[in-house]
Amino acid sequence: MSETDEAEKTIIEIEDSITVGALAEKLMIPATKLIGELFKNGVMVTVNERIDFDTAQIIVGELGLEIELSKKEEETKISQHRAKKVASDTAASRPPVVAVMGHVDHGKTSLLDAIRGSEVTKGEAGGITQHISAYQVEHTSNGIARKITFLDTPGHEAFAALREHGAQLTDVVIIVVAADDGVKPQTLEAIRFAKKAGVKMVVAINKMDKESANADVVKGQLAENGVIPDDKIWRGDVPMVAVSAKTSDGIEDLLSTVLLVADIEELKADVDIPATGLVIEAHMEQGRGPIAVVLVETGTLKQGEFVVAGTTYAKVRNLEDMQNRLMKSAGPSTPAIITGFKKLPEFGDEFQVVASEKEARTLTEQSVRDNKAESRTGVDTSSELMRMINRNMTVTELPIVVKADVKGSLTSVIDSLKTLENEEVSVRIVSSGVGDVNETDLHLAHTSNAMIYGFHVGMPTTVKQHASRDKVSIKLFSVIYELIDDVKEQLTGMLAPEIVETSLGRLIVKGVFNTTKTEIICGGEVTKGKLSMPALVRITRGDEVLAEAEMMSLKKGPQEVKEAIEGDMCGLQLKTNSKVVVEEGDRLELFTRESVARKL
Ligand code: GDP
Repeated sequence: MSETDEAEKTIIEIEDSITVGALAEKLMIPATKLIGELFKNGVMVTVNERIDFDTAQIIVGELGLEIELSKKEEETKISQHRAKKVASDTAASRPPVVAVMGHVDHGKTSLLDAIRGSEVTKGEAGGITQHISAYQVEHTSNGIARKITFLDTPGHEAFAALREHGAQLTDVVIIVVAADDGVKPQTLEAIRFAKKAGVKMVVAINKMDKESANADVVKGQLAENGVIPDDKIWRGDVPMVAVSAKTSDGIEDLLSTVLLVADIEELKADVDIPATGLVIEAHMEQGRGPIAVVLVETGTLKQGEFVVAGTTYAKVRNLEDMQNRLMKSAGPSTPAIITGFKKLPEFGDEFQVVASEKEARTLTEQSVRDNKAESRTGVDTSSELMRMINRNMTVTELPIVVKADVKGSLTSVIDSLKTLENEEVSVRIVSSGVGDVNETDLHLAHTSNAMIYGFHVGMPTTVKQHASRDKVSIKLFSVIYELIDDVKEQLTGMLAPEIVETSLGRLIVKGVFNTTKTEIICGGEVTKGKLSMPALVRITRGDEVLAEAEMMSLKKGPQEVKEAIEGDMCGLQLKTNSKVVVEEGDRLELFTRESVARKL
């Protein structure tokens, strides 16, 4: 700051919360200085932890900086995102995207399960119980079968920001209120988010099967809070449906109401354009590498296309529906699973289809550069919030309790540990402090499954004994880099291995001899490379991948062979669990898939 404008304070915008590192960058001071000031004020945080707006404001005051903080409004981001959905004249109707929100224990999960159970699993054996981040149901209203997309936003562990983002993705929010409990703080929070994001609300008054249920009381409470029921008594504009997730009473009515509300919105999207949308989940899967669940917002996503999301891209290897069945394409409002990403994209990343790998690479490199520039200039931090949420959802954390002899060394240890994280694994400091390892540390480590790292500290024998009883690992070091190396080793062990595919060869199918639910026996000519056992097989027709299979045997004539080369005629026995009918002319791409250990 120059001396001439000393009297004028620079105004810096931040959001409701900010990481210590990001705030230090914005203030243009070293992070250690900020951490030191926070420590002085009794706030023990590391560079990656977040502090709220009020704390940030106090600390800036304490530091005597000529800077004033102001809260950044989030409306712009929401409206920008929604504005992009505006469709052309040739756009087609699309299914509504719906999120379920409400107070804890009011039945969000039960309701999502009830909707999914009654609709999506029709005709499917067994039903599905695992958590999925989105699903589509088909509901018949006025004689017409129509689709509705539900986002299954994590309930209990999710906090305000995630619910807020959930509202941005959606066209309609179902606010669940338990009829025996009424409006609660999280109900009001959900209403606020829905209103702020400008999405339509439908209230599901749940648990109507309970004796103590009273829908009228709930309606009265909602009306008091500006959500007026659209019934004859209240004559407001928010539809409310009495339901029971337990008995499924009212669910059909709820779905019809959602469709009615969606109709008023006239939801449309272009279909014949390259797809864009959002990443709604990302995780590593054994044997398949990075997996992203995306919600297509406009256009149509197809297998084999290049997709850029945030700072990574994919050639879509498999495009699957939420039951892991291969799909040829996914249109607007469709949730889809994509494999083939180079690294994990992040929850909330927007994705777009591009024409070539070259373009995908250029765009990805550009966003890596933008991200770096952004964090240098401290421009936008809203994606920071998503990163934090994402971290909760996809990053494997190593919980650690850190003890050191003095504050200075504690800060150094913590700062060094924070440099070890990547997008997949990170250190979570459960607690840190100065002094010997004590019973409190042990208790904390025990309850949070953490390891204890001590630097230049000791511990009483009783602590040692209790640690061995509770199976808590305590590691003491007197050389900082040895401590860091040990943590690094732990983190490396947690990294999911990299999945490497190696192409072996190709065969054109000339005859299919037998097909059962799980087995295909076919023969053909090797047109490229060398086929050998063991191998995986991608069955393709034209540009389309039909299924993946495993090669169980390879024969030349009646003889089992180890390999077959270009020009050979051979027979293959394949095992698959997707129902696929192989035809003459189909191509079999043979490859191996290996997991390779990675380094941090
Ligand atoms: P969430 O926290 O909002 O996701 O709530 P859950 O779906 O986990 O439900 C909380 C509790 O309420 C569970 O014990 C459910 O079995 C119960 N519950 C949910 N819906 C109903 C309902 O319609 N009737 C009754 N009697 N219990 C319900």
